[in-house]
Amino acid sequence: MRVYNFSAGPAVLPEEVLKEAADEMLDYKGTGMSVMEMSHRSKAYDTIIKEAEQDLRDIMNIPDNYKVLFLQGGASQFFAEVPMNLMKNKKAAYIITGQWAKKAWQEAKIYGEAIDVASSADKTFSYIPDCSDLDIPEDADYVYICENNTIYGTKFWQLPNTKGKTLVADVSSCFLSEPVDVTKYGVIYGGVQKNVGPAGVVIAIIREDLITDDVLPGTPTMLKWKTQADNDSLYNTPPCYGIYICGKVFKWIKKMGGLEAMKAHNEKKAKILYDFLDQSKLFKGTVEKKDRSLMNVPFVTGNEELDAKFVKEAKAAGFENLKGHRTVGGMRASIYNAMPIEGVEKLVEFMKKFEAENC
Ligand SMILES: *Cc1c(COP(=O)(O)O)cnc(C)c1O
Repeated sequence: MRVYNFSAGPAVLPEEVLKEAADEMLDYKGTGMSVMEMSHRSKAYDTIIKEAEQDLRDIMNIPDNYKVLFLQGGASQFFAEVPMNLMKNKKAAYIITGQWAKKAWQEAKIYGEAIDVASSADKTFSYIPDCSDLDIPEDADYVYICENNTIYGTKFWQLPNTKGKTLVADVSSCFLSEPVDVTKYGVIYGGVQKNVGPAGVVIAIIREDLITDDVLPGTPTMLKWKTQADNDSLYNTPPCYGIYICGKVFKWIKKMGGLEAMKAHNEKKAKILYDFLDQSKLFKGTVEKKDRSLMNVPFVTGNEELDAKFVKEAKAAGFENLKGHRTVGGMRASIYNAMPIEGVEKLVEFMKKFEAENC
């Protein structure tokens, strides 16, 4: 039996995709082998990775002057790749809206001057700071954001005014959750294990002029975007199986109606949960309303014992992974693309029952 899995990542995937992968496990389309067992230079695999890229381009409407890279190392390794590849002036502006932005900022400091031009640390990252007129240095190489803050449940609904500088965004936990105007960014990247596929793949969408040989001295060959771009993500063995599953998820999104449909589906789910939280006598959301994420919904009862009781009873009732991040406490429901609407409806029913019993 499948549970309702509210994990922040690795997270729920569409059941259809998992079933298809299961069907193809022993013999992928007459090749007599699993995708895990085939050469990444084979004809069959070439089709898999090319189709995956094309489907992603179609879904996101990615312009031709952007490269799509399938990489490894997690989003965390990309924290270093950004300064290594972009810090020509050794200066960048970081907006600190949570732990992932902070980690990226700290990593960038190894390579140059990384300036925290805005932060919401003063209120435990429960909001997105006003980024309409930041003090961005003239010679900054880029402005960095974490667009959806997985741990705290906030989202940039308006991109910062970068004053003409290149925008770099970590979209790990909002990737493919809604339509996006790629041209507003220099680099969009994310680990896929939140909303797109299995852990082990990072997708990076990078404007071509940012992919050059002019990288920081000492940048490893593998971490130079030019190496990966020149080799169509096949410089070495890519995370083959993970890319194959991502490709299936892209096809699933297309079938569901693309990113407009995903957005509508995600808004509907989030509304059910937020509407309940806003009138509940027991539970309350922890984030400023205007900055609420559609993907990660943190909430608390205000009583740690009651929080723990809730998580335990929810688990017994088939709602998994509702415990909040270890640094925040309380609860968090991650309701990514593949979470069905019934999952959220049933969770809210369960919360109502818990409230009646404990209030
Ligand atoms: C999970 C997450 C990361 C870290 O991803 P890894 O692939 O584990 O390195 C970074 N940024 C955001 C926004 C995340 O949600």
